[in-house]
Amino acid sequence: MLQQILDHAGDDDHKPKPCKIPRQWLPGWIRWPIRFLLLPFVLLDLFAQTLAKKIIRPPYQKVGSCKKRGNCCNYILIKKSKGFSAKLDLLWHTQMNGFFLRDKETHEYEGMKVYVMGCRYLQKDGKCGAYKLRPMICRSWPRIEYFGHPQILKGCGFKAVSKE
Ligand code: SF4
Repeated sequence: MLQQILDHAGDDDHKPKPCKIPRQWLPGWIRWPIRFLLLPFVLLDLFAQTLAKKIIRPPYQKVGSCKKRGNCCNYILIKKSKGFSAKLDLLWHTQMNGFFLRDKETHEYEGMKVYVMGCRYLQKDGKCGAYKLRPMICRSWPRIEYFGHPQILKGCGFKAVSKE
């Protein structure tokens, strides 16, 4: 079911199922300063990942650029963790990152249980309303890992090119 949605998410006529975006109860004067304070760590993490990929090169290379279609921001897959950390994760993504659950149920995806989330900062023109302070998950998308297939939504301006 989820795979079917993702397969069509890049179609020109695709529109995500409308859903009500819940209000965040954590006030902005707490959220934004925390995000601002975390920014250097996010950038440092990103820098370390880029450096690691220059030293040990993954089998694929990302080429292209974002077409600002907003598909990846409409379908953010968050792995469901177990126990108390599952609650903390959900709290973090919904209150701090500004994501919201598209569906309370989890879905099966590549052998994992995942939540499908949307993002309240996605604007009508496909741009990000929180671009400078966007979280790590947004900065590292589309994902090109050392193992497995690159994760890129159809219709995205990026593509993964094999280095072989
Ligand atoms: S924070 Fe910006 S880049 Fe990240 S999901 Fe939301 S709209 Fe997209």
